[in-house]
Amino acid sequence: MTVKYKEPAPIHGELNPLDSMMERFSVAAEILGLDESMYNALKSPEKSVAVSLPVTMDNGKIEVFEGFRVVHSAKLGPSKGGIRYAPSVNIDEVKALAAWMTWKCAVVGIPYGGAKGGIKCNPREMSQGELERLTRAYTVAMADVFGPEKDIPAPDMGTNPQIMAWIMDEYSKLKGVASPAVVTGKPLVLGGSLGRVEATGRGVMVSARSAMGKLKMNPNKARAAVQGFGNVGSISAKLLELQGVKICAISDVTGAYMNEGGIDIEKAIAYVEQNGGNLEGFTGADTCTNEELLTADVDVLVPAALEDQITSKNADKIKARLIVEGANGPTSANADSILNDKGVMVVPDILANAGGVSVSYFEWVQNRLGYFWTEERVNRRADRIMKQAFETVFAASKKYNVNMRIAAYITAIDKVASTKQIRGIF
Ligand code: GLU
Repeated sequence: MTVKYKEPAPIHGELNPLDSMMERFSVAAEILGLDESMYNALKSPEKSVAVSLPVTMDNGKIEVFEGFRVVHSAKLGPSKGGIRYAPSVNIDEVKALAAWMTWKCAVVGIPYGGAKGGIKCNPREMSQGELERLTRAYTVAMADVFGPEKDIPAPDMGTNPQIMAWIMDEYSKLKGVASPAVVTGKPLVLGGSLGRVEATGRGVMVSARSAMGKLKMNPNKARAAVQGFGNVGSISAKLLELQGVKICAISDVTGAYMNEGGIDIEKAIAYVEQNGGNLEGFTGADTCTNEELLTADVDVLVPAALEDQITSKNADKIKARLIVEGANGPTSANADSILNDKGVMVVPDILANAGGVSVSYFEWVQNRLGYFWTEERVNRRADRIMKQAFETVFAASKKYNVNMRIAAYITAIDKVASTKQIRGIF
């Protein structure tokens, strides 16, 4: 029996990330004719853990932080997904991000389920010592959730290789064994993989190239705007520039910067490195607003910052013909139909930014083998995964006559549902 799924209630006119995810999931489930019990089984996370983390701050006071880890599914393999440190972290967001990881791993065909973690904190205002104590406290609290064959965290917004190193160290000490495969995105000396830092941005570039091919867009004549200049945004911009694309606008938390003639991305990256990690005061472009960046007169838009940037309020003003989602959830569900009607091709997050988790998979494989690959091998294999996944999703979009986002959900849900079916349900 197939059921008509109820539309989630809008929040402030838009949907929160969990509802936004469910909205697309419901559409794909209906097209697939997923039965109601399977729909219910897939929509609920397998495990949600919330912990309180008391941490001694540098001033001697104890602050209590909220931490979460949600395992959405561990049916295709151990669950996989990053840990986010941000003031906005909440359980609904973590649940949405965990489900996105399940779909993402299924789309690119790596043997993982999906999970996500988060700590509500402001890492920009914390010292290294405070971050280390917080990370170790979180690892102790999650010691029975994590495991190389159970649940494998990685970096996400606000976390980095150093934080992954503390997780590896604390977990290894707790278990009394060296356990590099419990976490990915580690520094190279601790068993990290060559190519992991660049992997998400590289996957964005490879997806953009595949999409440009379908749209008959010449990269040497294309212009792009990239929102966000962290790991994903800066590397996507750099690699797209190397493909001949002119990057006309970039941004970070300090503001947006536009130069019709093209921004020198190497210079912008060097500037950020010398300027405390941000673009403030960058002179290679004029300043503009975030809205101006999103609606700039470009061919390609790469949102690589936060969720809900492209919404029903600005989607009709977007001029780009191609959107490649470097961030998770940058387009609200309400904006999808507007972009669809305008004929914009959107390469969805669960496909476009899957390069990161794909190379996390390679890192885990190398850790388990105890044998490390060259960067060339990592990149070649990651590129192949991304290209194949793009073609699979593109073919599904033709077969079901749907946009790339729904096609990606169909591809993922079909795979997870059939695996769940074959393994059996209570
Ligand atoms: N946080 C990244 C993502 O959202 C990477 C996850 C991983 O490598 O496990 O895809």
